[in-house]
Amino acid sequence: MSSFPFSTSNSVQVIEKKRNYILSKLLASDPGFSAVPVRSIMFITLQNMLKLYDEIFLNGALGAHYRSIKVTVSSRLLSSAGKFIHPRTPQLHPDAEIRMSSDFLFRLKNGPFELNGLTVATPQEAFLVVFEHELCHAIEVAYFGTTGHSSRFMYFAHGIFGHNKHTHDLPTIAKETTQKTGISVGSRVSFPYNGQTLNGIVSYLGKTARVMVPSSRGMYYLNNDRRQRYIKYQVPLSLLSLIQ
Ligand SMILES: [Zn+2]
Repeated sequence: MSSFPFSTSNSVQVIEKKRNYILSKLLASDPGFSAVPVRSIMFITLQNMLKLYDEIFLNGALGAHYRSIKVTVSSRLLSSAGKFIHPRTPQLHPDAEIRMSSDFLFRLKNGPFELNGLTVATPQEAFLVVFEHELCHAIEVAYFGTTGHSSRFMYFAHGIFGHNKHTHDLPTIAKETTQKTGISVGSRVSFPYNGQTLNGIVSYLGKTARVMVPSSRGMYYLNNDRRQRYIKYQVPLSLLSLIQ
């Protein structure tokens, strides 16, 4: 792979030293963020996190490529712990966003947590490792215009941040629901509706579930399969029963 203005062969010791330095800076300036469980996170802490990572790990590469990267937290991001929202053409649309899930951050209590092939001790460190994953998406888009979880992505994730995987095992709402009820995306479920029982397939899990119920009057298809139409229902998790 061609050369980059930052190291892609950091040792574990160097990575931990740099990550701990960033963590200590952020904790010292934000009492809500340093509490366990985390109570709040200030806007300036998010911007500082980006700035410190760009300086300390990336030698300013992101600042040089993007006009701006907004770092936000969202309580509505439930399906993953973080998300990189990227311009399709960074040259023409130089503004990007890294959106972090506050739901996941505020619910983490006692570690250790397993994520991206690493084991970390605290919720705050887990938050940083999720952020590192999103930074790798930003780097890929900056240099190649596209991003995914390919071997190229892992080259950056491993070489810069020591990640060994691109999956994580954090307790998102969807995962907790699956653990408690056995219901996951794709499960067949039933639920009461206007005095009847409807059967359908779960297509999304968050604070509520989206269930697709087969009906000739439906306006939706599942996985683009045009042989069956569905009506979409938003159902509280407590009303769902798994059909075995
Ligand atoms: Zn990703």
